[in-house]
Amino acid sequence: TENEVVTRNPATGEVLGRYPTHDAAAVEEALARTHAAAEVWRGTALAQRLTLLGDIGKLLLERRYTYAALITAEMGKPLSESLAEIDKCAWNCSVVAEKAPGWLADHEVEAGRSRSWLSYEPLGVVFAVMPWNYPFWQVIRFGAGAVAAGNAVLLKHGPDVTGCALAIEELFADAGAPAGLLRSLVVAAPDVPEVSELVIRDPRIAAVTLTGSERAGTAVASVAGSAVKPSVLELGGSDPFVVLADADIEAAAKAAVTSRFGNVGESCIAGKRFIVHEAVADTFVAAFVERVGMLEVGNPALPSTTLGPMARADLREGLLRQIRETVAQGATLVTGGEALEGPGNFVAPTVLDHVTPGMTAFVEETFGPAAAIVRARDDEHAVELANDTAFGLGCAVWGATGHALAVGRQIRSGALFVNAVVASDPRLPIGGTGRSGYGRELSAEGIRAFTNVRTVVVA
Ligand code: NDP
Repeated sequence: TENEVVTRNPATGEVLGRYPTHDAAAVEEALARTHAAAEVWRGTALAQRLTLLGDIGKLLLERRYTYAALITAEMGKPLSESLAEIDKCAWNCSVVAEKAPGWLADHEVEAGRSRSWLSYEPLGVVFAVMPWNYPFWQVIRFGAGAVAAGNAVLLKHGPDVTGCALAIEELFADAGAPAGLLRSLVVAAPDVPEVSELVIRDPRIAAVTLTGSERAGTAVASVAGSAVKPSVLELGGSDPFVVLADADIEAAAKAAVTSRFGNVGESCIAGKRFIVHEAVADTFVAAFVERVGMLEVGNPALPSTTLGPMARADLREGLLRQIRETVAQGATLVTGGEALEGPGNFVAPTVLDHVTPGMTAFVEETFGPAAAIVRARDDEHAVELANDTAFGLGCAVWGATGHALAVGRQIRSGALFVNAVVASDPRLPIGGTGRSGYGRELSAEGIRAFTNVRTVVVA
């Protein structure tokens, strides 16, 4: 209904929680509280802010089973992956706590005066619109740095993970954050664009960050642009996973399964288009399909499960439509391709071969357990296929190192991984090019995204 958000377990359909939505007065209160917290927080010493991050990291590890079980219940990824997500959040907190003094230190620049430097000062409250696919990680990924830099956070999380959104708010409070440093807004579907526009235009909001679809990103960034507020967008991808003729095929096939089927395929940086040199394509497809057959599909709360249900019924419908269209357009369905019977939004792990440019699974982002294999005549053709997309997030190239690097340099992306699965790391920035968005998260670039880079000159 319009006055509550209902969360459901995607493995069973059972209702998990009902949360009253925030009315105009509650939104106003959240704006006032986060703004007040930001004013206090910008005046605290960096060491004190970093102590808070250390404490958040400790609490995450103490509560890892509780939080991981909540993630799995709300969005369906296997429990082992939810535990890894919490561990990664704690890791990011400790990396930021250790490195932020360097990342935020004044940067001296010689400019012919007695002294001149850049200082990295907080912006204020960052409005964060976040998706359900990594309910903790998406928030902590940008939030640890943003808070270390002296900002506060007003979070508008995906409604499917409202339990996680409120747990994160409580985590910050329990770790000793000043009241209002991170607040969650609970808003139901029809009101989201209107409330988010009101929030972005509010003078108490300094900046905006969004991770999610192009549709959501375009809407939010347009408002931020017209309000002259900086934004970071981390949108979708259709990442190429390129396998060259001199690749270690077994290693590439194993990594391909991790890259595509991890997180139930619901990851922006998953390999989505597997571009394989035709000399090794049959061998690669055989090794890949064999490993896909080893996935344990089922109840994500069981430790042995490696592929859970998709997060929502409509998302499953969308993926099945993409598979149907791609097959109708001439691709070969090697395995899977259909919903699994029974409760829950399960899809049989799917491999499509002989996918070509223009087909749905080539053009659109496939956000679920379905891999598209595209055969390339030679390296030049592989580069052309990889670049034939409006997205540009990650890119993996498999082959002899020098060769793979030379091919990878010709592909446009925000990150290039050679003989490795594209993955974020707190010590390295991550972000996109083209329709995948702009700005960076993590590391020095990510922390500085939400600072005022201030020039100071002393005559
Ligand atoms: P959305 O991107 O639509 O949702 C992400 C967040 O944006 C949610 O909190 C959503 O809130 C919010 N949002 C949507 N429209 C607006 C708006 N006009 N103003 C403010 N906030 C808005 O994801 P979906 O769940 O609909 O997934 C659809 C597709 O998006 C997926 O199939 C996938 O392709 C892509 N996606 C990509 C992700 C990534 O990591 N890059 C993550 C998630 C999805 P609400 O749901 O309340 O509208």
